Amino acid sequence: MTDFGFFEFEVLRTRRLGHSFLRVTFGGESLRDFRSGGFDQSLSLFLPQPHREHTELPSTAEDTWFGAWRGMPDEDRPVMRSYTVREQRRTPAGVDEVDIDFVLHGDSSPASHWAGRAVPGSRIMVIGPRVAENKSVRFQRPSDADLVLVYADETALPAAAAILERLPADVRVRAWFEVPHADDRLALSAPADTEITWVVREDPGAGRAEHVLAAVRKADLPAGTPYVWLAGEAGTVRAVRRHFVQERSVDRKSVRFTGYWRLGASEEQLLAEAYAGQAPSEDPESAL
Ligand SMILES: Cc1cc2nc3c(=O)[nH]c(=O)nc-3n(C[C@H](O)[C@H](O)[C@H](O)COP(=O)(O)OP(=O)(O)OC[C@H]3O[C@@H](n4cnc5c(N)ncnc54)[C@H](O)[C@@H]3O)c2cc1C
Repeated sequence: MTDFGFFEFEVLRTRRLGHSFLRVTFGGESLRDFRSGGFDQSLSLFLPQPHREHTELPSTAEDTWFGAWRGMPDEDRPVMRSYTVREQRRTPAGVDEVDIDFVLHGDSSPASHWAGRAVPGSRIMVIGPRVAENKSVRFQRPSDADLVLVYADETALPAAAAILERLPADVRVRAWFEVPHADDRLALSAPADTEITWVVREDPGAGRAEHVLAAVRKADLPAGTPYVWLAGEAGTVRAVRRHFVQERSVDRKSVRFTGYWRLGASEEQLLAEAYAGQAPSEDPESAL
């Protein structure tokens, strides 16, 4: 894990953003060694079961933690989930903080349930970066790509927002953001020549990819060398990728795509498939 390590994150405060998002701000001594690479930097959270206040792992040693965690009784084993560092900062008072924006999508899903009840003082464990250049930053724009095309659903909006605010001012951006509610259209910082199309989902379930595709198809794209970044529900990501590669002839090597979740499958099921080699994914975190 050399580039990555365990950190203990303590909830400092929470704040509702729009209808679907809850920002949880974490602090803690160990954040001093945490180094987010920005953009779509992801991390793995270990969240306590509902009857526990904090996450406790039997081992955080590189060679034993996985077996020790897997060996815990089901009812006690902390739930591992992938999330995004929306921002890491040091406050003027010298306090290290990390924001993670959680989509609240229902109480029966462990991470959404935990976030909805997160209270200051609660501690979780995290596997995250110790160096800013690490493989969990997937957004890797070649320097000659001057047109950035982005699709994100609500789970990938934190990553997309962090990407947009880090891009050089002279890059053109066309972005499609799919969110459940009109007031999830958050204010974002982005280069001057950015056009964002919000796709507000009224009828989740069957047909969601078509809703997004219709919006993307309508776009009259400016000339330029494209770099495409796509993330969100796996089926929709696949459909949007196909559109760019087959209908717009974008070189598939210029398309970075990740399924952040899949309709009807928990993250445990996705990981089990990835480890069993069933998921045709570009990395083990992908839900594709
Ligand atoms: C690299 C990466 C970065 C991510 N970053 C973020 C982030 O910053 N913020 C964020 O909110 N999510 C993010 N996600 C997505 C998040 O990991 C998944 O949504 C995860 O499934 C949530 O766990 P859960 O315990 O709430 O639901 P699970 O137990 O995993 O799933 C339970 C059920 O809920 C469904 N489900 C999962 N997510 C949603 C959803 N958003 N809306 C509706 N149904 C859903 C599943 O299909 C399943 O049927 C990221 C995923 C990846 C791979």
